[in-house]
Amino acid sequence: MIPIYRAPSPIQRDAPRRLALLGSTGSIGTQTLEIVKLFPERISVHALAAGSNWELLAEQALAFQPQVVCIAEEARYASLKDALATTSIRVVSGREGLCEIASAEEADVVVAAIVGAAGLRPTLAAVESGKMIALANKETLVVAGSLVERLAREYGSMLIPVDSEHSAIFQCLVGEDSDSVESVTLTASGGPFRQRSVETFDAITRAEALNHPNWSMGAKITIDSATMMNKGLEVIEARWLFGLTPEEINVIVHPQSIIHSFVTFSDGSAKAQLGVPDMKVPIQYALTFPDRWPAPHDRIDWNTLRSLNFEKPDFHRFPCLRLAFEALKQGGSAPAVLNAANEVAVALFLADQIGFTDIPRLIEEAMSSVPSSDGTDLDSLLAADESARQAVRTSVSELVT
Ligand code: NDP
Ligand code: MG
Repeated sequence: MIPIYRAPSPIQRDAPRRLALLGSTGSIGTQTLEIVKLFPERISVHALAAGSNWELLAEQALAFQPQVVCIAEEARYASLKDALATTSIRVVSGREGLCEIASAEEADVVVAAIVGAAGLRPTLAAVESGKMIALANKETLVVAGSLVERLAREYGSMLIPVDSEHSAIFQCLVGEDSDSVESVTLTASGGPFRQRSVETFDAITRAEALNHPNWSMGAKITIDSATMMNKGLEVIEARWLFGLTPEEINVIVHPQSIIHSFVTFSDGSAKAQLGVPDMKVPIQYALTFPDRWPAPHDRIDWNTLRSLNFEKPDFHRFPCLRLAFEALKQGGSAPAVLNAANEVAVALFLADQIGFTDIPRLIEEAMSSVPSSDGTDLDSLLAADESARQAVRTSVSELVT
């Protein structure tokens, strides 16, 4: 198990935290910078990294004055370099640049907020450097959970969840003995299609799927929330973060997103963490753990909160959730296949090339056509990832031609 229960952390609690922020231009990345702005004396930015949005990255670099910035897409390097020509900020690029930033000696905390399996290698680089990692990039644990767990132990790296459900569980576990955990329950909003007639799912548009009732997030995770694959990925994420068996992880639909998740203990007691849906709270906790710093985030208004509802998730309505549980039980490279097929299918849906119900269909097909391997070394996992991507692309191109 990743040693999350034990404070003190490797961080000097009173010393300023220096961040390496991977995925700074995204939803989590920009909200992380909002937290930095709240605590200019206590958090500084050593490095920023993004995929292709060099304009926003340059703007962020000018505002936060990191020592180094990285743009993953090599073709954007010259534009970024030009934009920062009058500064002393070093500019790097590509996968090597991301890994350099993730393992920089000057950074105390690496915020892993790249979306998708693209975040895997930089996160592994941070793990192998023994970093404290504020982990938003759930796909890393879905693809390579067992590898990350092994390396985290070996290099003394600590993973602190940013995902709101896992942050909730993490907060419930502080001060508890891991042996007394009976089960964890991840709450799920159910997304925009919780009550829509399943017969009309074929007609779901991109705009409808991007319209999440409670959370404002990046496009990929918003579609994952609409299919409930997001919850499936989170089940797998929880398995690795908290060292649980599939049977110890439950999902319950809770449309208000006020209870962010809960833990049931062996004496029958359950502990939950509550708050208004605002990612800044779990992001901040991941940066300040084991402490809490006073902040002006919205509080629950208990005078107007009328009810908290719960319902059982419906696997017929949300086959992606079932597929994720199946991949978890199968183990080996199956979660990597699930994740890669989902990434390609979601990108195709966002590009209006396939329909909403094609997403689970293509994932299920990839899971049965790509031979599953027991291998959990990086090469086997990357090979499984690539085969799954190829399987989905082939299936879609056959459909079109
Ligand atoms: P966004 O799409 O908003 O942002 C993604 C970030 O990753 C951007 O900075 C993007 O750069 C960067 N990026 C994309 N591809 C690459 C690449 N190949 N190499 C380097 N950087 C890349 O995503 P979110 O912020 O919503 O999500 C980030 C992660 O956090 C995901 O794993 C998600 O599941 C998780 N998460 C997000 C939550 C949220 O509320 N948003 C909640 C819980 C978890 P660019 O802008 O240049 O493309
Ligand atoms: Mg979540």
